[in-house]
Amino acid sequence: MTRPAHILAPGATIGILGGGQLGRMLALAAARIGLRCHIYSPDTDSCAFDVVQKATQAGYEDEEHLARFAQAVDVITYEFENVPHHTAEFLATRCAVVPDPTVLATTQDRLAEKTFVNRLGIPTAPFAAVGSEAEIVSGLDAVGRPAILKTQRLGYDGKGQRTIGPESDALAAWADLGHTPCILEGFVPFEREVSILAARSRNGQVVCFDVTENEHRNHILKTSRAPAAVSDAVTAEARRIAGTIAEAFGYVGVLAVELFIVRDGTSHSVLVNEIAPRVHNSGHWTIDGCTVSQFEQHVRAVAGWPLGEPVRHSDVEMINLIGAEIEETARWLAVPGACVHHYGKAEARPGRKMGHVTRLLGPASTDKAG
Ligand code: AMP
Repeated sequence: MTRPAHILAPGATIGILGGGQLGRMLALAAARIGLRCHIYSPDTDSCAFDVVQKATQAGYEDEEHLARFAQAVDVITYEFENVPHHTAEFLATRCAVVPDPTVLATTQDRLAEKTFVNRLGIPTAPFAAVGSEAEIVSGLDAVGRPAILKTQRLGYDGKGQRTIGPESDALAAWADLGHTPCILEGFVPFEREVSILAARSRNGQVVCFDVTENEHRNHILKTSRAPAAVSDAVTAEARRIAGTIAEAFGYVGVLAVELFIVRDGTSHSVLVNEIAPRVHNSGHWTIDGCTVSQFEQHVRAVAGWPLGEPVRHSDVEMINLIGAEIEETARWLAVPGACVHHYGKAEARPGRKMGHVTRLLGPASTDKAG
């Protein structure tokens, strides 16, 4: 029997757009199950280059290199969601690209993303589009203070965001962001921030990892814990939301949905903050805490292989090593139950994710009611 073209044979090559730590960990996971990766990245110091045999260092606009890359691989995916949409479209005319490039068009734009989520009947913070000073004023009337002004595109780790407090000058905040198109969001008084990672296969099967609780420091993820201290009802709602979004996109691969959990009297409501159409920092614990990691799951999905049922065998805490914290590696290597991941990046700039540690805290408990 011949294998359908979308099911990769062992030894086949997955092309990955982006060369950071997510690409590096995808390539390592692919190698474990007998698949190869070819990394395409514009950056000379891409840490994913170190773990693959084939890499292309060229720009996302360089059609000659993109065409050669498409010819050299069996399927293409991303580790970086801000790959220009037309780059993904160009590649899709030459090779299968998963998830579909249309997903990027939605998730690269906060306004399109939140509108898409609301249309599915899933709540977000109240928001208003801002493209003029008049819209700042009407937007603040609509969402109230405090609010958060965010650039519509290209924001991450708190970059491109300004908090508008009771007394803040919102017009000055918008000027500070260069008068770029923004969205103004009402401030959500959340009790916790969690995320859920879901994988969807080509035939529509959806498998979720356990809900993860996240803490940020200076807008950058610092720790993730699984299981999250949330009720069964919140867990069920998080899974429903991730499944609904994956289904609506016709998604193939792993996606992350960042959620705010808000206390609502005696129960809780679950709001979507952001969708990441890729593997995600809050899922790094799955490498050491689960039988199938988020990286392997993504590789399986894009290869057309069966998804795994990720059994979490331990309670875990993942700690990001940011900037100079990478110098603590030697100390972590000596800690019992600590699994150390060093991304091999040359320069430890402030705010740069340099590595992480997953601490195995003991045998898996079930999600705790919050
Ligand atoms: P984002 O870049 O949208 O993921 O935002 C980064 C962080 O800012 C989030 O993880 C939250 O801690 C905080 N944040 C973002 N939007 C809101 C909001 N509407 N209300 C309260 N906190 C927010």
